[in-house]
Amino acid sequence: MQLCIGDRLWWIEIQRKPIKNLILRVAKEGDRLLVSAPQHVDQKTIEQFILSRQKWIEKTWIQIEHRRSQKYWHHVRSGQILFFGKKVPFRLEKGQERLLHENDGITLWTRVSDPEAVQQAFERQAVRLLQRRVEERRIELDARLAEYRQPAPTVSFRKMRSRWGSCIPSKGKVTLNTNLIYYPEVCLDYVLVHEFAHLIIPNHSRRFYQVVENWMPEYRQAQQWLREK
Ligand SMILES: [Zn+2]
Repeated sequence: MQLCIGDRLWWIEIQRKPIKNLILRVAKEGDRLLVSAPQHVDQKTIEQFILSRQKWIEKTWIQIEHRRSQKYWHHVRSGQILFFGKKVPFRLEKGQERLLHENDGITLWTRVSDPEAVQQAFERQAVRLLQRRVEERRIELDARLAEYRQPAPTVSFRKMRSRWGSCIPSKGKVTLNTNLIYYPEVCLDYVLVHEFAHLIIPNHSRRFYQVVENWMPEYRQAQQWLREK
């Protein structure tokens, strides 16, 4: 079932167990709520229970997200950064915000010094690198869509909490997660293919994955990568 809590729609997984009280957890991926419930408790009661814990849910979720984002970033202290799935040398310089990617690593110029602000600056600049890769990859995908008489969508990037990408077929809009900068390029390719395929088939049926496989035969490898994290 799904439940709107605050401004977010949550997936709820309910497991019936021989227990006395309801137990609520936020999944460690931060993408759904897990409820253990005694056999006799009805859905309405479970819903009310979840809603009464709204503050706790939001707080716990922010903690999980914070931890996840630190995981991407923690190499920076040792002068390294995770970039397209590899640790590369990272230099920080003072100056007008820009990013340079060369063979021997990445240099980021910024005026901020607070670690969180530096990370945001990096990700802001990294979006350009992601966009460049998307522009290369989508030439072929746009042609694939044309075979289905589907116009090419717009692609934008956003830091998302619990999804790698999203697609609004009716608006021809695809959004990809900026965090993909930390994963091997094949992951960006896969999420792009996945969301483009949703323009043709909106669900995750077998037919959908047939389209994905047709466009990107090695997609399972990327899928695994993204699941592990
Ligand atoms: Zn999907």
